[in-house]
Amino acid sequence: MDSSNTLLPEINDRHISDFVSVVGEENVLTDYESVEKLSKDFYWYSPILKKQLEGKQADVAIKVGNLDELKAIVSLCAKNRLPITLRGGGTGNYGQCIPLYRGVVVDISPMNRIISLDGGVARVEPGARLFTIETEARKLGWEMRCLPTTFVKSTMGGFLCGGSGGIGSITHGMIRSGDNMKSVTFMSVEEEPKLRKFEGEDAGITLHTYGTNGILVEAEMRLTPKVSYDQMVFVSRDWNGLLDWADGVSRDDSIHKRLVSMFEWPVPANFLSLKKYLPEGHHVVFLTVKQDQSADLLADALKRGIEHTRTIPDTEPMRPPYLSDFTWNHTTLWVMKKNPTFTNYQIRFGPNFQEQIRLLWEKFPGEIQMHMEWIRVDDDPMLICLPLIDFISEERLNEISDFFKEIGIYTANPHTYILEEGGMHNDIEEKRALKKEMDPHGILNPGKMVSYPHNPFEKGSA
Ligand SMILES: Cc1cc2nc3c(=O)[nH]c(=O)nc-3n(C[C@H](O)[C@H](O)[C@H](O)COP(=O)(O)OP(=O)(O)OC[C@H]3O[C@@H](n4cnc5c(N)ncnc54)[C@H](O)[C@@H]3O)c2cc1C
Repeated sequence: MDSSNTLLPEINDRHISDFVSVVGEENVLTDYESVEKLSKDFYWYSPILKKQLEGKQADVAIKVGNLDELKAIVSLCAKNRLPITLRGGGTGNYGQCIPLYRGVVVDISPMNRIISLDGGVARVEPGARLFTIETEARKLGWEMRCLPTTFVKSTMGGFLCGGSGGIGSITHGMIRSGDNMKSVTFMSVEEEPKLRKFEGEDAGITLHTYGTNGILVEAEMRLTPKVSYDQMVFVSRDWNGLLDWADGVSRDDSIHKRLVSMFEWPVPANFLSLKKYLPEGHHVVFLTVKQDQSADLLADALKRGIEHTRTIPDTEPMRPPYLSDFTWNHTTLWVMKKNPTFTNYQIRFGPNFQEQIRLLWEKFPGEIQMHMEWIRVDDDPMLICLPLIDFISEERLNEISDFFKEIGIYTANPHTYILEEGGMHNDIEEKRALKKEMDPHGILNPGKMVSYPHNPFEKGSA
């Protein structure tokens, strides 16, 4: 984005006093530090985004506590054509909630009511924390079908609009899979905001759109009967043996599991608090598996020469340690703590994953370290990889990414805040049409959906 082409909004005293009249002085934050904090996420995972997004922040952050307040704030922003960006827990890692054109950040986390957990459906407000939903659901004999490893901080709205899946995805797929979503309700961004409810499959188009297609105000997500799990650590020097075993466990429907993660040594060397369970030079598998199946699984692993170093039994209510704190995008966090030059990528292997991994090692010796997560989408187990990459330059990262594609690996670029560049959006035309309906002035998180023609904050935009 060329800053000389931007038309930044002016937020004046009248705007601020209008906001204060809706939510009260204590919920309108204008001091630099508070606004900066509420304008940022984990964008610094990417050295490219770090450079692009440094210094970007809103002019004002507003905390909204209920639907009426949200509606009034949205209406004021629409009347004054101020950019508005939503924020939940701020744990996204592609800068999705960082405002590109200043304006207003709306912190929706105080809208955090669990409306009901009846009949195996979590009906919640957008700011409800996933940890709270999971804890309350478990009390009633349910658990969430999938949740990100940031479940302690992240919100339902942020997960549905910015995330994709995680713990549980090995059994239930991602947020968009099957009938995971019962419904989502969005508010439009206009002078008289309207609500629109999307049910079943129709909800799919609204998910993972970086908060560009309206404001999520309520979600109904299906739950699944609760299970007691053991969290288990397995290690081996034999990469292929461990990989085959973990893949077999992932494909075996008779094994009830919530997480299957695998790490190439030396990635586990960064998991400091687990050090004594992760011997030098050993690759590692973490499994979260139904408690009454863990003994059989253990016997099977030992028979294959795979060592078992720890089991963390289930607790009710759940409490740390969680092995998930070292999986999905948490792995990258641990690696970056010890090796600040590292970053990651997001890829999905094909059925010939052993061969693809061999080709990557051969082409980039020592430059890429494997971290894999198994998921299930439409009944097919799939192997996702968030490889750790020692970042040398953007050019080199592009070379690596080109090679992924060359050998048939699907990529979702985590080094962009642009929706269309971050993954496959076969339905982008429908998404654009939805944005037109829900955000007619183009003021909602502008600049993130770049193929939407109207951006009032860029000179020459339609
Ligand atoms: C260490 C780490 C581990 C992670 N692990 C996972 C993982 O396992 N799986 C996964 O999917 N992601 C993961 N992520 C990414 C992120 O944590 C999740 O996607 C999380 O669910 C985002 O929730 P949040 O409340 O923090 O959202 P935020 O970061 O606040 O927002 C995310 C996006 O949603 C938009 N948004 C928020 N609320 C609303 C709303 N009500 N209406 C419209 N738009 C809204 C924001 O504008 C932004 O574009 C990880 C990130 C980190 C840093």
